[in-house]
Amino acid sequence: MKEVLLISDKGGTGKSSVLNSLKEIYGKEAMFADCSFTSRYNNLPIYLEETFNSRFICAINNNICLCCGDCDTICEFNALVFSTEEIKLDRHKCTGCGHCVYTCPSGATELKKIHSGKIIISKDDNSIFIFGILQHFKQDGTRPVYIIRNKAYEIATENKRKILVIESSPGWDRHTRSLALYSTIIVPVIEPHAFVFDFLEKVRNYTDQNGTEVKLIVTKSDANPAITTRIIKEYPNWDIKCIPWKNDLNIKEKNNFENFL
Ligand code: SF4
Ligand code: SF4
Repeated sequence: MKEVLLISDKGGTGKSSVLNSLKEIYGKEAMFADCSFTSRYNNLPIYLEETFNSRFICAINNNICLCCGDCDTICEFNALVFSTEEIKLDRHKCTGCGHCVYTCPSGATELKKIHSGKIIISKDDNSIFIFGILQHFKQDGTRPVYIIRNKAYEIATENKRKILVIESSPGWDRHTRSLALYSTIIVPVIEPHAFVFDFLEKVRNYTDQNGTEVKLIVTKSDANPAITTRIIKEYPNWDIKCIPWKNDLNIKEKNNFENFL
């Protein structure tokens, strides 16, 4: 299956609009997923909703705790707040490593799977789209993108889709890199501004090393013609599509993306 990853250096570059356009054109051939966990989709037809557990967390039974402090000493993540009367867990710091469980002399600590969020699958006559909503750990950057990606891959296979299009969150971070490992084509959706080259260099280093194809989309390409020209010159091996400000990225402008995938 061809796997296409939409990425960007920052929010608001038009990545979601590109995804929507692709949904409109390739809806029957492709499967679509948003792995950014931003949950901003309110009016979609919901086909299926299921919860998922993505990791473990420590649970403490203060009724049998001896207040010895051994777990506090062993925890490398400062996730336990110890007092003479009880021990409390900082859920955002606990990584579920389990060291406290092996250390506790009274069996007062155990690892539990936590309910992390929801997978939502939306289906209409034209396309299938999946995204995730996080219910815990919104602040600590834990985004189990692999859960959405793997589920999307499974649905795409079941529905005989030849292409899987995935949107990642902005930035070349560990979430995006983990999705890039599966990708056949990486599609950076960027605007022409002076700081974009840091991001593009990271993409180039990765894709050169891994032999991944790049199709770059420069939105609002006429907003800074000098930078757009520099991008075209500096990345001669990439397939580059420039979409000027006046062209609506939305679904009506199909000719932006015909024959793109
Ligand atoms: S599971 Fe690991 S991170 Fe969590 S409290 Fe125990 S030792 Fe600390
Ligand atoms: S190691 Fe066990 S008994 Fe000791 S403080 Fe921690 S939870 Fe309580």
